[in-house]
Amino acid sequence: MRAFTFERARSIRSAAESASNNPGSKFIAGGTNLLDLMKLEIEVPTHLIDVNGLGLDKIEATSDGGLRIGALVRNTDLAANDVVRRHYGLLSRALVAGASGQLRNKATTAGNLLQRTRCPYFYDTAQPCNKRTPGSGCSAIGGVTRQLGVIGTSEACIATHPSDMAVAMRALDAVIETTRPDGTSRSIPIAEFHHLPGDVPHIETALEKGEMVTAVILPKPIGGKHIYRKVRDRASYAFALVSVGLVIQADGTGRVAVGGVAPKPWRVDAADAALPDGAKAAWTQLMADARPTDDNRFKVTLVERTLAAVIEEARG
Ligand SMILES: Cc1cc2nc3c(=O)[nH]c(=O)nc-3n(C[C@H](O)[C@H](O)[C@H](O)COP(=O)(O)OP(=O)(O)OC[C@H]3O[C@@H](n4cnc5c(N)ncnc54)[C@H](O)[C@@H]3O)c2cc1C
Ligand code: SF4
Repeated sequence: MRAFTFERARSIRSAAESASNNPGSKFIAGGTNLLDLMKLEIEVPTHLIDVNGLGLDKIEATSDGGLRIGALVRNTDLAANDVVRRHYGLLSRALVAGASGQLRNKATTAGNLLQRTRCPYFYDTAQPCNKRTPGSGCSAIGGVTRQLGVIGTSEACIATHPSDMAVAMRALDAVIETTRPDGTSRSIPIAEFHHLPGDVPHIETALEKGEMVTAVILPKPIGGKHIYRKVRDRASYAFALVSVGLVIQADGTGRVAVGGVAPKPWRVDAADAALPDGAKAAWTQLMADARPTDDNRFKVTLVERTLAAVIEEARG
């Protein structure tokens, strides 16, 4: 690990200012992803800004009946929160499907959204990787791609986003609240928060220099039955090959988001419209532009079968 300086932020504004003034800086929350990447010298920040002491660890009702989740709320606390379990069951289920109990005790809401990909070549510093070293090439293309993306990928990068929580938040239309170095805040719909790779896979989100995530806002509950199904190589402590987050309302309308297949949680409006009776139609819409490799073509079938299974479960 390389040497770095460390600062405990005293306010949200000063944290964002410090991040803007120190080009090599990174925010640190639970550290469960960042510290691993630093040990491997994939991330080499020169300055760490600890944002744990800023009081951003609260879950509060919003005036319009929704929920404001502080950026530093731990995954364990969010999954166990009464309101989340009762009204946003999809989110609670997705959270407990992720990582392990110990990791969830440390992992935060913002850190989970901003975790980096699990592409094996991204972790192997001896291999070219456009995400790690822009312009160096993509070792995954033509390599071992079983875990990698089938949709939303590009000629420069075929990695997936590994978060379970983000899949649920995408289905629930979450909005990311941020503060910029000048003190202004903005709200970014989760659909626009994560970027597709295009020619610049190292640019992963809509965040600007120094911009800090302060909260995630969930709109008021939409009711219905909430199911999160994660298919993986081991029953626990493994990232999704494919995951499906489904909300089916009493009137038969629904929402579906898919994880493990794309550089961001994947949701298609036309797929929502086809639910619940048109499981096959919904899958066709979801996977319409899939470009699988020979190694990961099975994911397209796995999405179809997992979606059919969760719809069956929803019907009781
Ligand atoms: C063995 C293992 C298994 C795992 N399995 C799963 C799994 O199955 N499913 C899953 O979803 N996840 C899984 N994870 C990932 C885990 O959920 C993430 O590591 C965790 O959520 C990251 O949160 P953190 O608070 O520790 O982030 P950190 O490591 O502190 O930070 C991650 C990134 O977010 C940035 N950041 C943090 N806070 C802010 C902020 N407020 N504003 C702006 N930027 C910020 C940091 O600068 C850094 O770039 C696993 C991790 C491990 C190590
Ligand atoms: S898929 Fe993306 S993360 Fe993986 S090697 Fe290629 S550029 Fe790097």
